[in-house]
Amino acid sequence: MECLVCGETFEMSGVATQVYRRAGVVVTVTGIPAASVCPNCGNAVLDWEVAQQVEDLVQPLFRWAESHTLPKPVVSITFPEALAIAA
Ligand SMILES: [Zn+2]
Repeated sequence: MECLVCGETFEMSGVATQVYRRAGVVVTVTGIPAASVCPNCGNAVLDWEVAQQVEDLVQPLFRWAESHTLPKPVVSITFPEALAIAA
């Protein structure tokens, strides 16, 4: 795995947290599996397929925000991996 920010190479392991902001909605996704945080610069690197799946997960929330008039929510999504690590 190579860091896209600084070029450091490292093993893919563990989980990451990503924040998605679109259409005024803020979605924080915690415990994304198959991810790594670069030991050199702290940039989170996701497996491409995993990143796509997370994108599919948060997409409906952004679509909701575009077609509804309620205030934009702040959403938090947690994968079980994050709970396992915290425990
Ligand atoms: Zn890096």
